[in-house]
Amino acid sequence: MTENTLTGSLAVAFDQAADRVLIAQGDRTLTGAQLRQAMDAIAGRLMSLGVAPGDRVAVQAPKSIDLVLLYLGCLRLGAVYLPLNDAYRPDEIGYFLADAEPALFICAPDAADGLHQSGCLPGTVTLRTLGADGAGTWQAVEPSQAGLPPLPASPDDLAAIVYTSGTTGRSKGAMISQGNLLANARDLAAVWGITADDTLLHALPLYHIHGLFVALHPLLLAGARIDLMPSFDPDAVLARLATTTVFMGVPTYYTRLLATQGLDRDTARHVRLFVSGSAPLTPATFQAFAERTGRSILERYGMTECGIICSNPLDGPRIAGAVGHPLPGYHVRIADNAETGVLEVKGASLFSGYWQMPEKTREEFRDDGYFSTGDIATIDVGGVVRIVGRDKDMIISGGLNIYPVEIETLIERMDEIAEVAVIGVPHADFGEAVVAVACLKTGISIEPELIVERLRPQLAGFKLPKGIEFVPALPRNAMGKVQKAELRRLHADRFS
Ligand code: ATP
Ligand code: MG
Repeated sequence: MTENTLTGSLAVAFDQAADRVLIAQGDRTLTGAQLRQAMDAIAGRLMSLGVAPGDRVAVQAPKSIDLVLLYLGCLRLGAVYLPLNDAYRPDEIGYFLADAEPALFICAPDAADGLHQSGCLPGTVTLRTLGADGAGTWQAVEPSQAGLPPLPASPDDLAAIVYTSGTTGRSKGAMISQGNLLANARDLAAVWGITADDTLLHALPLYHIHGLFVALHPLLLAGARIDLMPSFDPDAVLARLATTTVFMGVPTYYTRLLATQGLDRDTARHVRLFVSGSAPLTPATFQAFAERTGRSILERYGMTECGIICSNPLDGPRIAGAVGHPLPGYHVRIADNAETGVLEVKGASLFSGYWQMPEKTREEFRDDGYFSTGDIATIDVGGVVRIVGRDKDMIISGGLNIYPVEIETLIERMDEIAEVAVIGVPHADFGEAVVAVACLKTGISIEPELIVERLRPQLAGFKLPKGIEFVPALPRNAMGKVQKAELRRLHADRFS
């Protein structure tokens, strides 16, 4: 029963859509039949290089249709795909390669020399290159003449190891199975109503679950069309919305779209679904987008370890600042039955553990199979989940717990403020003190005291910021996540 696996289900979906274009980039298009063929051909090329089912294939290459094909070829062979963020430098790459021991590493052509010189390549790894235009030594590999193994048939077969974003510490490799990926893909296609009539404009990177799994799988399974863009560019996105029905982005994509002149009801009218995730979407952005386009962004919540767990509804009101209900068949609860506390989750897409980190895996799984997300949340009586921050970002001041998002939401509503992050920094009396790091709108100034004065009637005294810092922009990674650890480091001496 190969249809128990993502690979098997994709093969069936490609056969069913044999004559339809499923993926396009610029003038290059691939039908279901061509994808099916490419999957086999690429699996054969992997075999030529000695890659066997179960071997890891690490990849740090620019986004392109060929990169998607490489991923599909790994799925076909039953190799374990291991995507790496473009931003990682040789030393960091060295950590991932030593940790994951891949048989093959595919990198960008212009990175190969630096990698060789840095000495970060283990002797056991074969190196090939793949560029944005398809050029590189990978494309020259001839498929093996030996027969391909059968399609992966067990849902427990490992399909990918994806390293977490490293927002709260060293990245961990999440082991994700064929069954995990298939379950989440089917569930998302169902809850978001994805059909063969959809066209997704794909602007996300392919090294993170958002762009690689969430944006590709449900569409491919449904026989929909995916239009790949090499990277996110707000004007290029606007120019293509007329032929787009579904768009997925991180919150910063939406703030950058809002900063264009061209975003309005007319440009957005063909898009039935705008999805946001990977980082919190502020109510201010949600509202501004709704006013400009007449569309409510659908916010969903997920993580590398679990795929997507919660989503606002396709039909019915989407709530700003909330991530909606768990998907059907998924379970969520707050640890220790607290009102506000660490969110624990369970569902078919939940990973099996961290690669080479049995201790860490044991720590994060409860006896009854729930996984501790490290995110702090509330669940209201109607079952709607709100993420209020990360466990590690919670501020404890004078012995009292403070959740940054509450203060961030109030400051962000102020007309002068473009964006803000609230952090805790060491303080001799309070242990930690609340500091707001804010970025003002262009050409605007405001006294920090005025911000605190405006907050005073809305917040208990212990939550009021003891310091306000203005910065030109918040440090964010490519997924739009504010680097709070970096902010804490920069402002650590504020009160010493
Ligand atoms: P690391 O685990 O290495 O510290 P990370 O948690 O940022 O990094 P990812 O798995 O990429 O790595 O991100 C998952 C996290 O992103 C979630 O745990 C949550 O904190 C955040 N997140 C995702 N979607 C949302 C959302 N809609 N609202 C708020 N936070 C979100
Ligand atoms: Mg995490």
